[in-house]
Amino acid sequence: MTEIDLAELIRDVPDFPSAGIVFKDVMPLLADPAAFRETIDRLAAWAGPRTPDIILGAEARGFIFGGALAYALGCGFVAARKPGKLPWKTVEATYALEYGTDSLQVHADAVAEGTRVIVLDDVLATGGTAKAKVDLVEQLGGTVVGALFVIELTFLHGRERLSGYDVHALIAV
Ligand code: IMP
Repeated sequence: MTEIDLAELIRDVPDFPSAGIVFKDVMPLLADPAAFRETIDRLAAWAGPRTPDIILGAEARGFIFGGALAYALGCGFVAARKPGKLPWKTVEATYALEYGTDSLQVHADAVAEGTRVIVLDDVLATGGTAKAKVDLVEQLGGTVVGALFVIELTFLHGRERLSGYDVHALIAV
Protein backbone atom coordinates (compact mmCIF):
# COMPACT_ATOMS: atom_id res chain seq x y z
CA MET A 1 0.00 0.00 0.00
CA THR A 2 1.42 3.43 -0.88
CA GLU A 3 1.73 5.97 1.89
CA ILE A 4 -0.37 9.12 1.72
CA ASP A 5 1.66 12.34 1.60
CA LEU A 6 0.21 13.85 4.77
CA ALA A 7 2.19 17.06 4.34
CA GLU A 8 0.16 17.85 1.22
CA LEU A 9 -2.97 18.04 3.36
CA ILE A 10 -1.57 20.64 5.74
CA ARG A 11 -2.44 24.15 4.66
CA ASP A 12 -0.10 27.09 5.18
CA VAL A 13 -2.03 30.16 6.34
CA PRO A 14 0.14 33.30 6.15
CA ASP A 15 -0.21 36.01 8.80
CA PHE A 16 -2.31 33.93 11.22
CA PRO A 17 -2.78 34.50 14.15
CA SER A 18 -0.59 37.54 13.64
CA ALA A 19 1.54 39.18 10.94
CA GLY A 20 4.64 37.22 9.94
CA ILE A 21 3.42 33.83 11.29
CA VAL A 22 2.71 31.04 8.79
CA PHE A 23 0.13 28.87 10.57
CA LYS A 24 0.04 25.14 9.80
CA ASP A 25 -3.65 24.29 9.45
CA VAL A 26 -4.41 20.57 9.94
CA MET A 27 -8.15 20.87 9.22
CA PRO A 28 -7.83 19.57 5.61
CA LEU A 29 -5.98 16.50 6.92
CA LEU A 30 -8.65 15.85 9.57
CA ALA A 31 -11.40 16.14 6.96
CA ASP A 32 -9.81 13.53 4.67
CA PRO A 33 -10.91 10.08 5.90
CA ALA A 34 -7.92 8.12 4.54
CA ALA A 35 -5.37 10.70 5.65
CA PHE A 36 -6.85 11.03 9.14
CA ARG A 37 -6.83 7.26 9.57
CA GLU A 38 -3.28 6.99 8.30
CA THR A 39 -2.15 9.78 10.64
CA ILE A 40 -3.57 7.91 13.63
CA ASP A 41 -2.09 4.61 12.39
CA ARG A 42 1.36 6.21 12.09
CA LEU A 43 1.10 7.85 15.51
CA ALA A 44 0.03 4.48 16.93
CA ALA A 45 2.95 2.67 15.24
CA TRP A 46 5.38 4.89 17.16
CA ALA A 47 3.45 5.10 20.40
CA GLY A 48 2.36 1.46 20.74
CA PRO A 49 5.81 -0.06 21.44
CA ARG A 50 6.33 2.54 24.20
CA THR A 51 3.33 0.96 26.00
CA PRO A 52 1.67 4.10 27.35
CA ASP A 53 -1.16 3.85 29.87
CA ILE A 54 -2.36 7.32 28.93
CA ILE A 55 -2.20 9.85 26.10
CA LEU A 56 -2.16 13.42 27.38
CA GLY A 57 -3.35 16.06 24.91
CA ALA A 58 -4.07 19.76 25.26
CA GLU A 59 -6.99 21.64 23.77
CA ALA A 60 -8.00 21.87 21.13
CA ARG A 61 -6.40 19.79 18.39
CA GLY A 62 -4.55 17.62 20.91
CA PHE A 63 -8.00 16.34 21.92
CA ILE A 64 -8.82 15.24 18.37
CA PHE A 65 -5.59 13.39 17.62
CA GLY A 66 -5.17 12.25 21.23
CA GLY A 67 -8.65 10.79 21.58
CA ALA A 68 -8.34 8.84 18.34
CA LEU A 69 -4.84 7.63 19.26
CA ALA A 70 -5.92 6.49 22.73
CA TYR A 71 -8.78 4.55 21.13
CA ALA A 72 -6.41 2.96 18.59
CA LEU A 73 -3.99 1.90 21.34
CA GLY A 74 -6.63 0.87 23.85
CA CYS A 75 -5.28 3.23 26.49
CA GLY A 76 -6.72 6.18 28.41
CA PHE A 77 -6.87 9.87 27.50
CA VAL A 78 -6.17 12.81 29.82
CA ALA A 79 -7.11 16.37 28.89
CA ALA A 80 -4.81 19.29 29.67
CA ARG A 81 -6.85 22.50 29.64
CA LYS A 82 -6.51 26.22 30.04
CA PRO A 83 -7.13 27.46 33.63
CA GLY A 84 -10.74 27.48 34.77
CA LYS A 85 -12.01 24.83 32.34
CA LEU A 86 -11.64 21.64 34.39
CA PRO A 87 -14.31 21.06 37.04
CA TRP A 88 -12.34 19.31 39.80
CA LYS A 89 -9.09 19.78 41.75
CA THR A 90 -6.18 20.58 39.41
CA VAL A 91 -2.41 20.96 39.19
CA GLU A 92 -0.94 23.63 36.94
CA ALA A 93 2.17 24.30 34.85
CA THR A 94 3.06 27.74 33.46
CA TYR A 95 5.08 28.32 30.31
CA ALA A 96 6.52 31.31 28.51
CA LEU A 97 4.96 32.80 25.38
CA GLU A 98 6.60 35.40 23.16
CA TYR A 99 4.94 38.04 25.35
CA GLY A 100 3.91 36.89 28.83
CA THR A 101 2.98 33.43 30.07
CA ASP A 102 0.23 30.86 29.74
CA SER A 103 -0.80 27.90 31.87
CA LEU A 104 -2.23 24.41 31.49
CA GLN A 105 -4.00 22.33 34.12
CA VAL A 106 -4.90 18.67 34.54
CA HIS A 107 -7.04 17.05 37.21
CA ALA A 108 -4.97 16.20 40.27
CA ASP A 109 -5.99 12.53 40.08
CA ALA A 110 -5.56 12.20 36.30
CA VAL A 111 -2.10 10.61 36.36
CA ALA A 112 -1.41 8.06 39.09
CA GLU A 113 2.13 7.49 40.40
CA GLY A 114 4.11 5.38 37.91
CA THR A 115 1.69 5.88 35.00
CA ARG A 116 3.35 5.76 31.57
CA VAL A 117 2.31 8.82 29.55
CA ILE A 118 2.78 10.02 25.99
CA VAL A 119 2.22 13.76 25.57
CA LEU A 120 0.75 14.53 22.16
CA ASP A 121 -0.01 17.60 20.09
CA ASP A 122 -0.63 18.57 16.48
CA VAL A 123 2.33 20.95 16.28
CA LEU A 124 5.69 21.23 18.06
CA ALA A 125 6.71 24.88 17.73
CA THR A 126 8.85 26.40 20.54
CA GLY A 127 8.18 23.40 22.79
CA GLY A 128 6.68 25.46 25.65
CA THR A 129 3.30 23.74 25.55
CA ALA A 130 4.81 20.26 25.40
CA LYS A 131 7.23 21.03 28.25
CA ALA A 132 4.30 22.24 30.38
CA LYS A 133 2.54 18.90 29.76
CA VAL A 134 5.70 17.03 30.73
CA ASP A 135 5.84 19.09 33.95
CA LEU A 136 2.21 18.25 34.75
CA VAL A 137 2.84 14.52 34.34
CA GLU A 138 5.95 14.65 36.50
CA GLN A 139 4.27 16.77 39.22
CA LEU A 140 1.83 13.88 39.61
CA GLY A 141 4.52 11.17 39.65
CA GLY A 142 3.94 9.86 36.13
CA THR A 143 6.64 8.89 33.63
CA VAL A 144 6.79 10.54 30.21
CA VAL A 145 7.60 7.75 27.75
CA GLY A 146 7.30 9.92 24.65
CA ALA A 147 6.47 13.33 23.20
CA LEU A 148 4.64 12.87 19.92
CA PHE A 149 3.57 15.39 17.28
CA VAL A 150 2.02 15.38 13.84
CA ILE A 151 4.16 18.36 12.69
CA GLU A 152 7.47 19.73 13.97
CA LEU A 153 8.51 23.27 13.04
CA THR A 154 12.23 22.51 13.17
CA PHE A 155 13.35 26.15 12.81
CA LEU A 156 11.87 26.90 16.26
CA HIS A 157 14.05 24.23 17.95
CA GLY A 158 11.28 22.97 20.26
CA ARG A 159 13.15 19.68 20.65
CA GLU A 160 15.78 21.47 22.69
CA ARG A 161 13.17 22.19 25.40
CA LEU A 162 12.44 18.46 25.45
CA SER A 163 16.01 17.17 25.60
CA GLY A 164 16.28 13.89 27.46
CA TYR A 165 12.82 12.79 26.28
CA ASP A 166 11.90 10.51 23.40
CA VAL A 167 10.53 12.97 20.79
CA HIS A 168 8.97 12.12 17.43
CA ALA A 169 7.04 13.99 14.73
CA LEU A 170 5.42 12.47 11.64
CA ILE A 171 6.25 15.51 9.51
CA ALA A 172 9.21 17.87 9.95
CA VAL A 173 9.16 21.24 8.20
P1 IMP B 1 4.70 25.79 21.27
O1 IMP B 1 4.29 25.80 22.71
O2 IMP B 1 5.40 27.04 20.86
O3 IMP B 1 5.50 24.54 20.91
O4 IMP B 1 3.39 25.78 20.39
C1 IMP B 1 2.67 24.62 20.22
C2 IMP B 1 1.21 24.85 20.52
O5 IMP B 1 0.72 25.92 19.75
C3 IMP B 1 0.42 23.62 20.17
O6 IMP B 1 -0.63 23.43 21.10
C4 IMP B 1 -0.11 23.91 18.79
O7 IMP B 1 -1.41 23.43 18.63
C5 IMP B 1 -0.07 25.43 18.69
N1 IMP B 1 0.56 25.87 17.42
C6 IMP B 1 1.70 26.57 17.28
N2 IMP B 1 1.96 26.81 15.99
C7 IMP B 1 0.98 26.23 15.30
C8 IMP B 1 0.68 26.10 13.89
O8 IMP B 1 1.38 26.58 12.99
N3 IMP B 1 -0.44 25.39 13.58
C9 IMP B 1 -1.23 24.83 14.52
N4 IMP B 1 -1.00 24.94 15.83
C10 IMP B 1 0.09 25.63 16.21
